[in-house]
Amino acid sequence: MVQETIFSRIIRREIPSDIVYQDDFVTAFRDISPQAPVHILIIPNKIIPTVNDISEHDEKILGHLFTVAAKIAKQEGIDDSGYRLIMNCNKDAGQEVFHLHMHLLGGKNLGKLVE
Ligand code: 5GP
Repeated sequence: MVQETIFSRIIRREIPSDIVYQDDFVTAFRDISPQAPVHILIIPNKIIPTVNDISEHDEKILGHLFTVAAKIAKQEGIDDSGYRLIMNCNKDAGQEVFHLHMHLLGGKNLGKLVE
């Protein structure tokens, strides 16, 4: 049995959030604690707890997360200036919500993550 998180309630619009995009497969909403001028979470509507739980059946949805990310970046006007996509997996990466999510960060110079 896969455990629901607060993100399932956001998808179902049971709790308030600033949803910027939603379709049958993914939902995107502004992070409640933004780390950059643009900080949006893009999540599959299906519960996949971590990257470790992705199966081959999910590959289409995962690809869709990327095309939606690019669409939102354009919508937010940061497609040319640039942005960063991050997925944290488990403890050492600081994952707090166990419903797979892609962070889309931008709107300022984010510096280099890896030299
Ligand atoms: P993680 O650390 O798991 O990769 O990221 C979880 C993110 O979810 C954090 O950036 C946190 O601010 C965000 N978050 C947690 N709870 C909520 C919520 O109820 N609403 C929104 N919009 N974002 C949330």
